[in-house]
Amino acid sequence: MNFNLLSPSEVKRLLERYVLRPKKRLGQNFLIDRNVLRKIIEAAELDAGSVVLEIGPGLGTVTQEAASLAAQVVAVEADRDLIPVLSETVGRCENVEIVNADFLQLDLPSFLTSRFGEKKCIVVGNLPYYITSPLITKLIEAREHIERMVLMVQQEVAERLAAEPATEGYGSLTVFVQYYCQVRIVARVKRTVFYPAPEVDSSIVRLDIRESPAAAVQDEALFFNIVRSAFGQRRKTLLKSLSGSPTLGWNRETAGAVLARAGIDPVRRGETLSIDEFAAIARAAG
Ligand code: SAM
Repeated sequence: MNFNLLSPSEVKRLLERYVLRPKKRLGQNFLIDRNVLRKIIEAAELDAGSVVLEIGPGLGTVTQEAASLAAQVVAVEADRDLIPVLSETVGRCENVEIVNADFLQLDLPSFLTSRFGEKKCIVVGNLPYYITSPLITKLIEAREHIERMVLMVQQEVAERLAAEPATEGYGSLTVFVQYYCQVRIVARVKRTVFYPAPEVDSSIVRLDIRESPAAAVQDEALFFNIVRSAFGQRRKTLLKSLSGSPTLGWNRETAGAVLARAGIDPVRRGETLSIDEFAAIARAAG
């Protein structure tokens, strides 16, 4: 590395030289720990043929390391002020392209095709915490272009992503993500590995896009509608939450009949259902 971006004093000097301060509103907490960087890179399993999409490169800490292993790295950074910094830290890496854009505004499938053609990419990102869920949703919606993702997220979000039924973190985000991805928590990360330190601890999670979804569902829109309705009123029984859902439009009789056909006890709460059980309800309703 030409720049030791893992040294807090060098990071401070670099920012001072550009008259910059970390921007809270953009979730700027820069990684300053070699061990954690190594864990991210190892979990990504990059090789000389890999193509990488990085979200929020910041000062280029993960970017530099990914570029030394992969064929190509495209890094999308929203903060225009960091572009000159990135030109200095990673500009000489010929396989790196920095794109100054708000990731949430990208047309992701066509963006990925324009950069990587038909090849599936590996996503890495120490995500800005204020938009984690929409970012993950957007990535999963573009799953045809993605092989796996290694993401740094808040501890609490990692627990939601990996949650089992009937636990506190289990919710519609869990079902959405686990339906399409295998989820593994790679490591817990203390807040002190960032400059500045955020208010909460984090986790590195790895999401592998499944070859086919976790359950057999014909009508995915209906399936997710059922899931959202069940968690919308998670303390109520399934019969109540499904028959009270304005989006499903089922009365008590319809909801009761669907649950009976699916073999699911109507007095259970939605938060206790596995993905397979939600799928059984969707099939029974279809
Ligand atoms: N990857 C760097 C690291 O590990 O040190 C920086 C991580 S920092 C937690 C999040 C980065 O995402 C910041 O550089 C921030 O400017 C950028 N960012 C915030 N919102 C973004 C968005 N909507 N699109 C792209 N980048 C964004």
